[in-house]
Amino acid sequence: MDDVKTKKRVAIIGAGPSGLAACKHALAKGFRPVVFESGEAVSGVWARTLSSTRLQTPAAAFRFSDFPWPEEVAAAPELDFPRHDQVAAYMTAYARRFGVLDCVRFRSKVLAAEYVGPSETEVAAWERWSGNGEAFGDGSGEWHLTVQHSELEDNQIYKFDFLILCVGRYGVAKVPKFPQGRGPEVFHGQVLHSTEYARMAHADADELIRGKRVVVVGSGKSGLDTVAQCAQANGTKHPCTLIYRSSHWMVDAKLIWGGISFGKLAMTRFAELMVHKPEQGFLLSLLATIFTPLRLLMATLVEAYYKMNVPLQKHGMMPECSFGEAMLGWRLGTLPEKFYDMVNKGSIKLKRSHSSFSFCTNGVVLDSGTGTGTGESVVVDADVVILATGFDADKLLSNVFVAPRFRDIIVSSEPSDTMLPLYRQCVHPRIPQMAVVGYVECAASIYPYEMMAKWVAHLLAGVVRLPGVEDMERSVAEWERWGQWAKRRSGGVFFLRSCIGTVTTWYHDQLCRDMGYSPRRKKGGGLLAEWLQPYGPPDYAAIQ
Ligand SMILES: Cc1cc2nc3c(=O)[nH]c(=O)nc-3n(C[C@H](O)[C@H](O)[C@H](O)COP(=O)(O)OP(=O)(O)OC[C@H]3O[C@@H](n4cnc5c(N)ncnc54)[C@H](O)[C@@H]3O)c2cc1C
Repeated sequence: MDDVKTKKRVAIIGAGPSGLAACKHALAKGFRPVVFESGEAVSGVWARTLSSTRLQTPAAAFRFSDFPWPEEVAAAPELDFPRHDQVAAYMTAYARRFGVLDCVRFRSKVLAAEYVGPSETEVAAWERWSGNGEAFGDGSGEWHLTVQHSELEDNQIYKFDFLILCVGRYGVAKVPKFPQGRGPEVFHGQVLHSTEYARMAHADADELIRGKRVVVVGSGKSGLDTVAQCAQANGTKHPCTLIYRSSHWMVDAKLIWGGISFGKLAMTRFAELMVHKPEQGFLLSLLATIFTPLRLLMATLVEAYYKMNVPLQKHGMMPECSFGEAMLGWRLGTLPEKFYDMVNKGSIKLKRSHSSFSFCTNGVVLDSGTGTGTGESVVVDADVVILATGFDADKLLSNVFVAPRFRDIIVSSEPSDTMLPLYRQCVHPRIPQMAVVGYVECAASIYPYEMMAKWVAHLLAGVVRLPGVEDMERSVAEWERWGQWAKRRSGGVFFLRSCIGTVTTWYHDQLCRDMGYSPRRKKGGGLLAEWLQPYGPPDYAAIQ
């Protein structure tokens, strides 16, 4: 096997947290991967973001399992939610410590990935993944990557035996379509997507909005962060307007994670006992049903507590869905610091739009029936409009593939679109020699991504044995069915694709078993600790 490892060529696309973990664990299994990163630094979204961005998840939950935060962060209570530059420094230190930095090729954008070898028809007919159920197949297929190292040079083609996609979810902006003559082209000011604004050098970003009438469209996490940053820069003299259609359960980070901590409670096995889980047996299904009233009661209490502490009602920011529904789709987030203080002082203006919006020369038009409720269109004057309208994670992933069939099936929404059709959220049953790490959504993203990276490394090393393609597809279908259940229970529209926030430990249990480790990871403390202590990164440190 050692000879095989040194000869097998493994490529990783992306040097964000997922790519770093994927590389570290492939190295640990004796491979020598090449990591292609289009940017100039490791750490993905944390390398370039708004100057005010901090973690929404506490540092204790947002870390790699075997690499604690440095003492100056871990020991400072005011740094429970580290700044973006501290997150980037932590990621860089991890990459340096485990020899990952030496494997990264910066300023190297992968434009296309083409599978060369067995034909599409042969691949589609295989009963075992990659032909024989092994990560590298029988050696007759390989991936050709077209890489752009610089705009001045010709693109290069590299060949690999295995491909790991760690491209994240935030690289492609989602921008609404506008009717002819009512889009950004008619506006006399500047329009940009929140991701472009976040990636600007901080001094340029400040300059762009200073003393301007800024309108931010969208009330997700990036919308609230952007509006708060603009309000801090411009104060009450030039208030920043947030236009939003729906509102989410956004509350102060300390309310979620401090005191009576809902966040920590949600990370216990007991909390998972109260929800249905994919591929659960009859007993667990029965228990989930029996405990449902308790789950709903707890969600109602948390909701009441948040309503008491956050002036959502007062500012017309009450979400349409209950907290219990939002929890299943993980439509929760943290407010920027002093958000409602800024609203009270007048540096942030909130404007609800009940239908669509468009542009005119002076700014943004809230179409008739919106805004004031008078039935007339309302114009919000602006110099700069920032569209915080989300990201197209599926496009980012599927765009990498040359073959239209792979493009389609990797993000297939048949029979529905609640989960990406990946076995163990990592490999597509009918795309050979390829894995995805980091697509799922969860409360604290890094250690689940690290678990996926460990699983993929075990697959490369031949430790994880995959079932036949049909059994893999059956498992994928079970997760899809569960996703549909969670989506229905979360109010229909509120479910983020591949959100495993309520079943993260259950998911990790599956990965542990595949890798030959016990899923019961609480040492000492007995059954009580196993069921009532939150599960977190250190529990998985021994899995290497
Ligand atoms: C503003 C913001 C705040 C967040 N806060 C939290 C938080 O508090 N807690 C939490 O758990 N999660 C948070 N997240 C989620 C975030 O996705 C994770 O923290 C984490 O960054 C995901 O890591 P990743 O490696 O999967 O993806 P990314 O961090 O997105 O990294 C992907 C990398 O792939 C590279 N890449 C993409 N395509 C190519 C290509 N074709 N060729 C070469 N390179 C490519 C990109 O340049 C990037 O470096 C936040 C996200 C954002 C945007």
